[in-house]
Amino acid sequence: MRRKLAAGNWKMNGTSAALSELQALVVAHATAGVDILICPPVSLLYRAAEIASGSVVAVGGQDCHAATTGAHTGDTSAEMLKDAGGTSVILGHSERRADHFETDATVCAKSKAAIAAGLIAIVCLGESLEQREAGETLDVIGGQLAGSVPDAVSGGGLVIAYEPIWAIGTGKVPTLEQIGEVHGFLRAQLVARFGDEIGAAIRLLYGGSVKPGNATEIFAVADVDGALVGGASLKEADFSPIIAALEDS
Ligand code: PEP
Repeated sequence: MRRKLAAGNWKMNGTSAALSELQALVVAHATAGVDILICPPVSLLYRAAEIASGSVVAVGGQDCHAATTGAHTGDTSAEMLKDAGGTSVILGHSERRADHFETDATVCAKSKAAIAAGLIAIVCLGESLEQREAGETLDVIGGQLAGSVPDAVSGGGLVIAYEPIWAIGTGKVPTLEQIGEVHGFLRAQLVARFGDEIGAAIRLLYGGSVKPGNATEIFAVADVDGALVGGASLKEADFSPIIAALEDS
């Protein structure tokens, strides 16, 4: 019942030339059994949306401001992302929490703004290595979930991405049991907070060093509804096998 989602986060990578990879992705996927999303740097979003227009590939942002408009130099509102052709926005990525001191409250305010603008909010959560080794993972994740997600959500308007900080860009991946434990915990928390219907409809992505070689086993874990992919989303040749693995799961 939950449509799976392969989401690519290009981070601060790519100038105009990188759009050829998006073009290749569009050509490679005339149809798709899963949702496909690419979140390029905001400088490329409008052109990316034009390339993806009419295709099964959607595009989105990597952050937005909590306000709709105003004196916020350098920022982009959710409405602006939507206006540029975005369908979704990644929020609370651990790199933004670290680089820009984003708190759960900040992420929650941004999520509200995104949902109000009609975007799908992809809210990222994840523990550090120290927190995992101290046995604090579920406490940390539970706290982030409670604080980063607003009360008014619909099943389709919110996606949660579990991204252990120590697995992002490192080539390290949690065991399948560890992924399953967190995703099962997240599902139970969502059902407890939002009820059976909404709680069961919210998609849960795993993110952190997902590659063509490990995607199939990760997608077989219960309550993994797709992936948020960084490095391996930059090239169509790497991302397409991950999409195929998700379609086969
Ligand atoms: C990410 O940035 O969200 C991510 C998961 O990166 P990578 O796939 O490169 O680990």
